[in-house]
Amino acid sequence: MAAMTYEGSSIDPAKPSIARVYDYLLGGKDNYAVDREIGDVFKRDLPGSVAIAFANRAALTRAVREIAKTTGIRQFIDLGSGLPTADNVHQVAQRHAPESRVVYVDIDPQVLVHGRALLENNDRTRVVAVDVRNPEGIHTHPDTLEIIDFTRPVAVILSAILHHVNDDEDPAGIVRYWRDHVPSGSCFFISHFRSGNNPETAEAEKVLQQTFGRGRWRTDAEIASLLDGLEILDPGIVPASLWRPDESDNPWNSDEGRELTVWEHLIAAGLARKA
Ligand code: SAM
Repeated sequence: MAAMTYEGSSIDPAKPSIARVYDYLLGGKDNYAVDREIGDVFKRDLPGSVAIAFANRAALTRAVREIAKTTGIRQFIDLGSGLPTADNVHQVAQRHAPESRVVYVDIDPQVLVHGRALLENNDRTRVVAVDVRNPEGIHTHPDTLEIIDFTRPVAVILSAILHHVNDDEDPAGIVRYWRDHVPSGSCFFISHFRSGNNPETAEAEKVLQQTFGRGRWRTDAEIASLLDGLEILDPGIVPASLWRPDESDNPWNSDEGRELTVWEHLIAAGLARKA
């Protein structure tokens, strides 16, 4: 199949995409043979890849629900949002607060096509095609300004995105930009590959770097330092499955108190607030 061009970038079925491999691991159908091939390498060499993807998604769902229910925040910017899946940010937020508004941001052309198809009839959501490493481009994009009122608190969602930003691309600078451009009371949800300094981490990092030239596992302290100047709320930066676990109806959520698998230790989550 030939590559298709969309907003200057092309959907290339011959080249694996982070978004499509992740979709495959989550059991989605928006992926090509080349993505499944890489996904199968992950599943073979890192048998916990699927657990990591589900633990991540479940923590994101819990965080959005918590933000919508407890903070009064009604606007979300979801950076590196990924392909639409079972429970997307606007669906979770609007279930609890129907007036919630969401800007999805991604650079994968397939995410843009599918995202826009899903959101066609939703006047409180937009999909913006700007690189997360260009926060000003996202902030000043007309679609963002149409949806988000920057005089009111915003939830900035950094779910499984900053580990795709290498150290020399200044991931902390991305967070700092948003911290400086949202009002007090705004919050930041982060999930991130978590380094346990163990062989699984080293192997996982190697596979990602070889495939995509990016993928950085960071320690809890390194992840916390990305949130510099923000107040990290309880329970801190912890394995995603331990981030405010509950018994909700979401089948991806973990049981409180059970022993985590070695893989679940490889994805961390945390919520921070701008004072
Ligand atoms: N946030 C979702 C979640 O947690 O389930 C999806 C995470 S997925 C692992 C990472 C997403 O980030 C992919 O959809 C990929 O296309 C997107 N991405 C990677 N680098 C990006 C960049 N520099 N700018 C915008 N999006 C990016």
